[in-house]
Amino acid sequence: MNTAELLKFDREHLWHPYTSTIDPLPVYPVKRAEGVYIELEDGTRLIDGMSSWWCMVHGYNHPAMNAAIEEQVRSMSHVMFGGLTHRPAVELAGKLVEMLPAGIEKIFYCDSGSVAVEVAMKMALQYWYASGREEKRHFMTITKGYHGDTWNAMSVCDPVTGMHSIFRGSLPMQYFVHRPEARYGEVCMEEHIGEFKQCLRNNHNRIAAVILEPIVQGAGGMWFYSADYLRQVRELCSQYDVLLICDEIATGFGRTGKMWGGDHAGIVPDIMCIGKALTGGYMSFAATMTTGKVATRICSKDPGVFMHGPTFMGNPLACAAANASLDLIRSYDLAEMTGRIEAQLRAELLPAREFSNVADVRVLGTIGVVELKEPVNMALVQAACVKEGVWIRPFGKLVYVMPPYIIREWELKRLTTAMLHVISMFK
Ligand code: PMP
Repeated sequence: MNTAELLKFDREHLWHPYTSTIDPLPVYPVKRAEGVYIELEDGTRLIDGMSSWWCMVHGYNHPAMNAAIEEQVRSMSHVMFGGLTHRPAVELAGKLVEMLPAGIEKIFYCDSGSVAVEVAMKMALQYWYASGREEKRHFMTITKGYHGDTWNAMSVCDPVTGMHSIFRGSLPMQYFVHRPEARYGEVCMEEHIGEFKQCLRNNHNRIAAVILEPIVQGAGGMWFYSADYLRQVRELCSQYDVLLICDEIATGFGRTGKMWGGDHAGIVPDIMCIGKALTGGYMSFAATMTTGKVATRICSKDPGVFMHGPTFMGNPLACAAANASLDLIRSYDLAEMTGRIEAQLRAELLPAREFSNVADVRVLGTIGVVELKEPVNMALVQAACVKEGVWIRPFGKLVYVMPPYIIREWELKRLTTAMLHVISMFK
């Protein structure tokens, strides 16, 4: 197949994320990728501003990542995890336990971020079932969140921008309060947390857990909120006997400038989900983790087990990739590395505040967001970015970057320059 035939076949048969089969948006054919570069079939090289949706933190085609996977393939690519175990899975658990917030010690491997969220929600429900409190079967969250596309995960995504209207009547009903308007760095006042408090006070008997993305709400709005709010949420959950689930799938492994989003507030959740950068973006893999207390309670009542066990649980290849990824993370001076990117993003993106079409610019850790006043035409903006030699995928009013951590100063400069240039073209 030549490139034109490949694209034609793709258009006729492949469904891309959130895309129409009748009138699909254009897709760009990728030949290879290396470091921060995505190379298209025609030889165009694009600096990746997206880390392939948060996950490719070490860059593409990383020699240590490649070597770990190649070595693992030669001994075993997969064995079932029921009744069997293996070194890659156990070694990974050892590394995670060292890195996780104190007290999070029971690890459940799963297939993807969305599944990790499903598993977290099931853990919370089974915890209350085992506690004889079956009436606690709902979840509470904040608007503008995103937790994945599977059924229960979808039910806690933003009810307006999420998929609630299409699946209304079939989705479980959850409790929503407005996202915190107190920004990152601001103190959380009563006016910011009041609605949350009231909802919890009124409904805690029906609520199994609060679920949220700590500090940075990602795909639902790229919003950075007050650490003080998160600290108060933790206290309120404890006060009202409601579990706290932190979805660290996007925020984990240093993306916000600290290892975990929750670290900004010094909190420890009851249940935590990780994914994306866990395997350095090499393959789909995730984990849901909890405290000894939650795990013990779940397993102390009939059926005495946690009711989940996917085919590819603990897949050795994925564990090998994750082991290599965590070794790299541990070898970095993460604070210096992410701090340097943060300072550069700040210096180079903040001038866009002066643009007439820009509503807000915000930067935290290795995430830089320019919020426009009007939604962008994704296809047009994307094409303009490709012309500028960068890969940025905006959505709605948001044009944002979260580059691989290994990006060099001049590459980041090219990325931010192209981003601002494209934004100014659409004034
Ligand atoms: N939670 C959060 C915070 C996410 O950002 C995502 C993915 N964008 C998910 C869950 C779902 O992960 P996955 O796409 O791997 O199912």
